[in-house]
Amino acid sequence: MPGRDVHWPVGSVIGAVSVSRADARSAEEWLTEVIWGALGGLLGAALPDMLEPADTPRHRGGAHSVLAGLTAIWINQQARRLRGQWLEEAETCRHMARQYPSWSAETRYWRDREARLRSASGFVAGVSPGYLSHLLLDSQTPAGIPLVGTSTGYRPVKARRRAGGITAGCR
Ligand SMILES: [Zn+2]
Repeated sequence: MPGRDVHWPVGSVIGAVSVSRADARSAEEWLTEVIWGALGGLLGAALPDMLEPADTPRHRGGAHSVLAGLTAIWINQQARRLRGQWLEEAETCRHMARQYPSWSAETRYWRDREARLRSASGFVAGVSPGYLSHLLLDSQTPAGIPLVGTSTGYRPVKARRRAGGITAGCR
């Protein structure tokens, strides 16, 4: 039964995709957010098994529950709002940097600040999607995920191709 070898890469990709913006002004801007989104997604995807170490296939409790998934969706909305604020601030920094000669310390200051804001905005927005990807993958295994706490084998999405299909779970 695969564990982090599936959860980590999937969470990273989901995190990256979730923060990818078509309206990014440059490849650098896009890449900064996407890389940090991937790192956020990686953390999010690792979290459930950090909170509930996967000793057995039936280790899934509260952190692996549908309730945790709903909480992650709620947190995601707050994170998106925060991301919006930080991206606006980053935009202000970009304008500030332009007020000074490109070689100046002021430009470097505002550019650094812009990069930090973009990185942070990608990171916070990537965590919840990564967490959700973990729960979704676990819900596809025969053990499923519980509604609230103890594992009852509840599967919100019916496992498809159970034999030889998606068998991502936790060790
Ligand atoms: Zn797990």
